[in-house]
Formats: sequence, C-alpha cells, structure tokens
Amino acid sequence: MGAISRRLFEQARQVIPGGVNSPVRAFKAVGGEPLFFARGKGAMLYDVDGNGYIDYVLSWGPLILGHAHGEIVRAVQEAASDGTSFGAPNPHEVDLARLVVEAVPGIEKVRMVNSGTEATLSAIRLARGVTGRDLVVKMEGCYHGHVDALLVKAGSGVATLAIPGTPGVPAQVVAQTMVLPYNDLDAFAALAHARGKEIACVIVEPVAANMGVVPPKRGYLEGLREITARHGIVLIFDEVITGFRVAPGGAQELYRITPDLTTLGKILGGGLPIGAYGGREEIMDRVAPEGDVYQAGTLAGNPLAMKAGIAMLKSLKTPGFYDRLEAASARLAKGLTAIAEETGTPARLTRVGSLMTLFFVSRDPVDWAGASQADARRYAAYFQRMLERGIYLAPSQFEAMFLSAAHTDEQIDRTVATARDVLKGMRWGPQA
Ligand SMILES: *Cc1c(COP(=O)(O)O)cnc(C)c1O
Repeated sequence: MGAISRRLFEQARQVIPGGVNSPVRAFKAVGGEPLFFARGKGAMLYDVDGNGYIDYVLSWGPLILGHAHGEIVRAVQEAASDGTSFGAPNPHEVDLARLVVEAVPGIEKVRMVNSGTEATLSAIRLARGVTGRDLVVKMEGCYHGHVDALLVKAGSGVATLAIPGTPGVPAQVVAQTMVLPYNDLDAFAALAHARGKEIACVIVEPVAANMGVVPPKRGYLEGLREITARHGIVLIFDEVITGFRVAPGGAQELYRITPDLTTLGKILGGGLPIGAYGGREEIMDRVAPEGDVYQAGTLAGNPLAMKAGIAMLKSLKTPGFYDRLEAASARLAKGLTAIAEETGTPARLTRVGSLMTLFFVSRDPVDWAGASQADARRYAAYFQRMLERGIYLAPSQFEAMFLSAAHTDEQIDRTVATARDVLKGMRWGPQA
C-alpha cells in the first residue's frame, strides 16, 4: 500500500468512523488498509500514490459505462452550470421518468429518491399502506440497503422471525419481518398458506448479488409471482443492482416476471446519488400527493442526478450494447473458470450477465447457507495478491464482480493471466 493512502487513512480515522463512509470499504473482510483513489477513467482506477488498477467494483455497480464516461461528464457539467437543485419540478425529471417507464416492464409510474435504501424503505411503506398489512418477507443473504426493518438476521429454522442484525434496531421493528432462505419456494408457499393475509409484501433481489452472485433457480421467481398474486401480497423486485444491468429492463425483463413494485438505484444515476421506486399505476397513485402514503425528498429529482441518469439510459440504447457486455463477461467467466480448473482451485463461478462471483466453494451456492460455506480467508489472500498486481476486486468474498462496457478484451485477458499466476501460487489444502 502506498504512503499517501496510508497517511490519508490515518487522518480519516480521526474524523470519520472507521475512516470510511460505508463499512465494506474498510477492507475488514480481507485485511490490510483501504486504498484512497484519486481518479478513474474507463475500466481503470488510479490511487493517490499513482498506481493503476483494472476495476471490477465500479462503485458497486453504477458505472456500467466505466469511470468518467464522456456523455455523463458532459451531462453533469451542463446541469451544474444551470443550478444543481431547485426543490421544484424540472423538465429532466419527466425525461428520466419516461425513460424508466419505457425500459422497465413493471413500472407505469415512478418516484425518484436519493439512494437505493430510500427506494426500498419507501416501497415497503407503500406496500403496507395499500394492503393495510404489516408483515414483510425478505430472503436471507439479500441486501436492500440499511432499512431498519430489513437489517435483520434469520433465526434458525426454515420460515423464521427476524432478529435485529445490528444494535439500534428495536426488536419490535423487526418483529414484523420474516426471513426465508433464498430460492426456497416451498418455504414461501408454506408461510403464505399459514399467514398470507397478514403479509404486505415480499422483497427480493431477483438475482441475489449481495451474498456474491446467486442466480434464481428455474421457477423460483415465477412461483413467488403466482403465490403473491393469489394472496394479495405486493411483490417487490429490488433491482437496485440488476436494473439496467442484466437487461435494459432488468431481471424482470430477462426472466419475464413482472413484479408489482420495483426499486432502482446505482446505474440509474450514472454514478450520482439516486434511487427510485415504481410500479403499477394504481399502487403508485397511493403515493402523496396523489394518494395518502407519505414520502418526500429535498434533493429528490435534482437536475444533476436526472441529467446523469438520462445520459446513462440513452447511452445504454446504443445498438449491441448488451451483446458486447455479455461477450466480455462470458470471456472473463470462461477464462476464470478455466484457470480455476487448471490450477486445481476448488472454486465455482456464478454469473448472470455482467454480474459474477468466483466463490471459493466446491458447489454452486443456491442460498446463503451455501454461499457462506465459501472460504473467505482464501478469498482474502486471492484479493490481496490480485490487488498487488493491479486488479481491484471487491474487498469481500460475498460481493459481485462487476463488468463495464469500458473493459477491453486486453484488460480481461490480463486479469485472467494475473489470476492464473495468483491461484498457481496458492496452496489448496483442506479448508482451514
Ligand atoms: C446497493 C443496494 C441497495 C442500497 O442502495 P444504496 O444506494 O446503497 O442505499 C439496495 N438494494 C440492493 C439490491 C443493492 O444492491
């Protein structure tokens, strides 16, 4: 680690808890100290000590065009010179909302907020408001931002009551949350059978990407759709990561399942703070001031984020964009799978489009019980050695690897060659 990063981290820890503004950045899961970055361009990130890295974090997903993409930079500069926020309607809100409604099958109306967390908490409030029910169902290993009711751990058993995942969340708050294993349709069917009339909503990542990437089993999303419809339960797809990434219309387009509500963020803002929630008109019309469910935001719909989002969604319409991204992702996945085999590394690569995880585990995970078997210590060693050689991976085993349209075949091949060197040098005895 460079001297300037080290000095900045020292200073940061004096004035910022843990020296970071979001926990995973602190490298706790992989050891060592975080790097401080000065700038990014395309697929590359440059730290304050002048080292370059091929970036597979991409700000945790938003930067599907890579860093400092020309169209986004121009949009933000233009917006800034006209004033960054009015706290009043502006034309860019209408343009971005229209692009979202056109792209996402389940969205007829959409409300902009400032983060994915705000989107999920607002969607849950709305679901409770329209159903008049209190129970929320979430899946173990899925992350929906730091909403109190969703920041929970599963108790033991198949269909379990939630227990707070952190101090500061009252037990009464999570008493209204039920946690089920991801990909376990039988567990949800049983819960719905027993308590369907009390359940306001199910919130799920249609492709789980916050325990590492765990794709939905065939029939899982269909089953959730069918059972929720039968019981009058609002189905929320949290597409904060998958939206505009796995397909222009997100996972709901890819798998052809239409939820009642969808939450968005990340790519939608082109790298600026944003979130959004949307869905069927009759549900969205319950949001204030049209309806009675309150939700508001001082900076919601600000021209900076709107114009960045518009530039982003327009760029994604470039013919062949998703085909090229898929080809690049397949190239990386194929390369990594081959070198894992070649080096005798017990690993599985999971992937949906440009989201993937190299899990140090011997069987494809289908839920958190499986994902959590992965050898996080070995991942930490792999991470550190990749970093030393100029590849920036997520500083945790339980995160996705993100690709952008800016990653070239040459950069992908260099990444695979580096992984070969690194994995060759690691000894793979029984799990420690
Ligand atoms: C990142 C993420 C969130 C939270 O978004 P923030 O903008 O960090 O608040 C919610 N849901 C999913 C699926 C996410 O990946």
